[in-house]
Amino acid sequence: MELACRIAGCKAVVPAELVTENLCPLHFTVSVEQKCADLRRETVGGAPDDGRREEIIRYLSAAGQTLARVATGNQRLPDELKARILNTFLTLMNLRENMERAAARMKTRTEAANHAAKA
Ligand SMILES: [Zn+2]
Repeated sequence: MELACRIAGCKAVVPAELVTENLCPLHFTVSVEQKCADLRRETVGGAPDDGRREEIIRYLSAAGQTLARVATGNQRLPDELKARILNTFLTLMNLRENMERAAARMKTRTEAANHAAKA
């Protein structure tokens, strides 16, 4: 039996790659984009600590892998959805990059503070 997307009102079929998430490809990209927007808000004020950073990186990597499996899976995707998937990849990549930059900035600031304290 084909599984329907868990989003109310959505009748799209859930591909094998998204059975765990119980989402159709479109709503999977929506959920990843939402999560990334939350993470961006969380990381914009300051770099997260190492534990949280690892958690976020794990999420980004898992979402990217699932997305790649959907993109190259059995279900045929309309061009619009392909474009959306590519966009979601971009969101994942940019978030990772922003996080690295925030971490680098924080490191520089800490080093400068340490230097100033020693001087
Ligand atoms: Zn759906």
